[in-house]
Amino acid sequence: MIFSKHGRTSKQQQSTFRTQGHTIDITKFYTYLGIDITPSGSFSRATKQLRLKALRASFKLKSLLASNHNPSISLALDLFHSLVKPILLYCAEVLGTNIQCRDLIFNGVQEYPAENIREGIYNILSPILGSNIQLLKVTRLGKKNDVTSPRPVLVRFKRYSDKLNILYQSELLSNQNILLTHPKFSYEVSDLEHVLLNYCKILLQVPRSSVNAAVRGELGTFPLYIEAQSQLIKYWLRLQNLPNDRIVKKAYDFAVEQEQDWAVHVQDILCRHGFQNVWLNPAVDAKHFGNVFKERLKDTFVSGWRQEIRNYSKLQTYSKFKTNFTLEKYLSSIQNKSFVANITKLRISAHCLEIEKGRYNNIPATQRRCPTCNHGIEDELHFLLLCPTYTEERQKLMDVINKTTNITLPKTSSETFNLLMSCPDAISLYIGQYISTAFQKRNRIDTNT
Ligand SMILES: [Zn+2]
Repeated sequence: MIFSKHGRTSKQQQSTFRTQGHTIDITKFYTYLGIDITPSGSFSRATKQLRLKALRASFKLKSLLASNHNPSISLALDLFHSLVKPILLYCAEVLGTNIQCRDLIFNGVQEYPAENIREGIYNILSPILGSNIQLLKVTRLGKKNDVTSPRPVLVRFKRYSDKLNILYQSELLSNQNILLTHPKFSYEVSDLEHVLLNYCKILLQVPRSSVNAAVRGELGTFPLYIEAQSQLIKYWLRLQNLPNDRIVKKAYDFAVEQEQDWAVHVQDILCRHGFQNVWLNPAVDAKHFGNVFKERLKDTFVSGWRQEIRNYSKLQTYSKFKTNFTLEKYLSSIQNKSFVANITKLRISAHCLEIEKGRYNNIPATQRRCPTCNHGIEDELHFLLLCPTYTEERQKLMDVINKTTNITLPKTSSETFNLLMSCPDAISLYIGQYISTAFQKRNRIDTNT
C-alpha cells in the first residue's frame, strides 16, 4: 500500500515492487488486527466495517430474543452491552477522536429571513474558518410560534481546517452570542451510534422516526462516545507511563510536538471537560481518574439532554414529567408488551394523535383539533383526561385508582396528567390498559371515517 494525502496513487508512483523475483501487489486497503487501514490514513472504511459487523451481531441478537419470547428490557440491554457494544467500541482509542462535524448554536441571528439564513451563517463563519467550510444543517430551535424572542439557530458544519481552535478563542463567540457546543465525534453522528439507537427503538417498539433524546431518556442509555472517550483517555494515561524508548511513546511525543490531530483531540477533550491540569500533569491514578472522567462526561451529557428535551418542540410534553435520566420502571414492571409500547408512544409523542399528525401536514398547532369529539386540540392531555370519547374507559381507570391505591389525584388536570404519565408503580398497569383501549377505539373511529 502506498500512503498519500488523498489516498490516490499518481502515475509516477505506480512503480512495481519485487521481492525474490515475485511482484508485490499494491493494495487499496489492508486489514490489520481487525481494522481496515487505507492509503489516505482515513478511518471511514474501518468505521463502516465495524458498523456492518455490529449490525450483523445485533440482528442475530434480536432474532434470539424474539425466539425466547422477548425477555425483559433490562436483560436485552445488558446483552447488547456485552455482545454488540464491544464491536462498536473496538479501537475507540483511535476512532473515538475522529471528529466528523461540529455544532454551533447562534442566539442572535434574527436579522436573517428564513430563506437567507444559510447564507448569513456562511458569511459569519467563512472569514474565520475559510471558504471550504461545509454547512451540513441549519435549523431554528425552539417553538415555531414564539415571536417574542429570536429563536436560536443550530448550525452543524464539517471540519475542514485546523482553524477550529481559532473559533474557540475568537471574539465571534461573544460578539454574536454564539454557543459552541461540544464537537460531534464520529460516534455521535456516524452509523455506529445508530446501531445502538435502532436497537433501542426496536426494544421500545416505537417508530424509527422517534426522537433520539426521548428514546435514550426512557432507557437511560448513554451515547457511545462517553465510553469511547473514556477508553481513549485511559489509553492516553497508559502511554504516559511507557519508557521513552518505546516506539509508540516516541510516536506520541512526535504527535504532541507536531500538534497532530490525535494529540490535539486528547488535549481538547480533557480541557473541554475541565481537566486541563491533567493534560499538563498526567501523573494521576489512572483507575481513579478514569472513573472521575467518565462521571463528568455523563453529567455533562445529562445536563445537555435536559436542555435538549426542553428545547425540542416535539418533546414539550415529555419534558414536563420526565425528570431523571434513568431506565423507566414501567418498562420492566408491566408484562403486557402492548401496554408498555402504548405508554411509551404516548409519553414520547410517537403516536398518531392530531397534535403530531398535524405537525407533519403543516397544520398550525391551534388547528389540530380532535377528530373524535371536535372539542379542542387533540394533544396527549386531551386524549388522557379530557376527550369525551373515552369517558367510560377513563371512569374505569379513576375507579380502580380510588379503590385499589391510596393515590390522591391532584386538582388540576395538568398536574394529574404529569402524575399519570410518570406511571407510578401501583397504577402503571391500569394506565397502560386505558391508553391501549383508548388508542384502539380511536383507530376504529379513524378507519370508519
Ligand atoms: Zn376529543
